[in-house]
Amino acid sequence: MKRLLIAGLKQETSTFNPVLTRRNSFQICRGEEMRASLRGTNTEIAGGLDVFEADDQVEVLPALAAWSGSGGPVHQEDLDRLGDELLESVRALVGSDAAGVDGAYIAFHGAMAGEREPDPEGWILEEIRHLLGDRPIAISLDLHAIITDRLVRCADALLPFHTYPHTDQRDTGQRAARLLLRMARGEVVPATARLPLPMLVRGDELLTATGRFGEAIEMCREIESSEGGLAAGVVIGNPFTDVPDLQSNVVVTTDGDPDRSRWEAERIARFMWRYRELFVAELTSLDKAIDIAAGTNGLTVFSDAADATSSGASGDSNAVLKGFLGTAFDGTVLLTIVDAAAVARAHAAGVGAQLALSLGGTLDPGRHAPVMLQIRVVSLSDGHFTYEEGTTARPGRTAVLMLDRIRILATERPVHVMGRRLFLANGLDPAEFDVVVLKSPNGFRTHYEEIASRIVSVDVPGSTSANLHSLPYRHCVRPIFPLDPTEEIELQFAAEE
Ligand SMILES: [Zn+2]
Repeated sequence: MKRLLIAGLKQETSTFNPVLTRRNSFQICRGEEMRASLRGTNTEIAGGLDVFEADDQVEVLPALAAWSGSGGPVHQEDLDRLGDELLESVRALVGSDAAGVDGAYIAFHGAMAGEREPDPEGWILEEIRHLLGDRPIAISLDLHAIITDRLVRCADALLPFHTYPHTDQRDTGQRAARLLLRMARGEVVPATARLPLPMLVRGDELLTATGRFGEAIEMCREIESSEGGLAAGVVIGNPFTDVPDLQSNVVVTTDGDPDRSRWEAERIARFMWRYRELFVAELTSLDKAIDIAAGTNGLTVFSDAADATSSGASGDSNAVLKGFLGTAFDGTVLLTIVDAAAVARAHAAGVGAQLALSLGGTLDPGRHAPVMLQIRVVSLSDGHFTYEEGTTARPGRTAVLMLDRIRILATERPVHVMGRRLFLANGLDPAEFDVVVLKSPNGFRTHYEEIASRIVSVDVPGSTSANLHSLPYRHCVRPIFPLDPTEEIELQFAAEE
């Protein structure tokens, strides 16, 4: 019988978002709650449970899972408390001298940043390593994770997602759990190499189904399915988590073959580097995007990646909304905005009320200025809905506001604007609009490609702009592509053991 611990901690930070993420943004499952809440969802924890629960020689030890939507840096005391609670739950299961456990699977996002702690996952993993001694630890990561020396040193294997947009969360959890089980049974001895790639990447070539990045991921999949290949991934970092280790990385783990791990990682890193100029977003000015929509039959999706709540932005941008005001565009438009004060005023006024309302610029006023609009309140809601992957969204209260042919879904709190359920839960069907504005760089494609005639990435300001030159980087690895001239950059193929 193997006793295997499972835990998780996930949040993705944009350090350019001035609004701190607080503890009440996290959903927390303690012990057995984890199974009840997450089993069967498209999450890494669910994948881990799939593998462990199917094996009658495994006893699952659920510790604690906490996750938040993306946002600004995590308030330091809140992060400390959350980390301490997670570590306490691990300590209680592991016992003294780790006698109570044979291994651990930890699901991280990997791009979390605290107010003062730039590597929260590394801190927590190092503590878990102390508690577990030499018992094996496998971790899963979003492919936007930031890889630090500490993370590599403290994990026996790192398993990143293989899809962008991300659809393989549960599958990744299964991969991690299967590998952990093999390590716990002594069937394999992992040897990991990590090769840093000084590049920040954006754009359509990142789509794993069609882009060059997908070819690199395919090499990783081939390694994982080969004899002796245990784990491989290209981890590109969230370009908006401006911390000292921000860059891309290739990680490869083989069964006791460090030389192979290194040359496989180098092969993939060189491939990515060769095509670096392709990994830049092509953005369209807002005026041009509106012209494109006017000339398109059917739905045009605007990707407003600059205010991508799923990348950590504040969600209070009204830039696209302002762009439509006073234009001759006569189609219908659907968009979202985070504005707690506007939602409160709409709820106080009631359905059908007409009122002058200030919209936007409440959270990131340095980038977005409020706009005063005469609107009508169409509907109001308590906001509860379930994301497509099965977890609960927490937008706070919502209000649907009408301004001529524009419908504005205002929420009290930021939520991911990627799927259709957000709108459907508020009586809005995106398929019935001429333009839908999604605050997401690519994740929306899973839900919109089948109903969109055109997809346009618009160039507007925001704390997660794909125009990386517009952001005030202070901490990330330098020099780095595309912020610095490429000829100054030398690849440092110094593998970790
Ligand atoms: Zn991601």
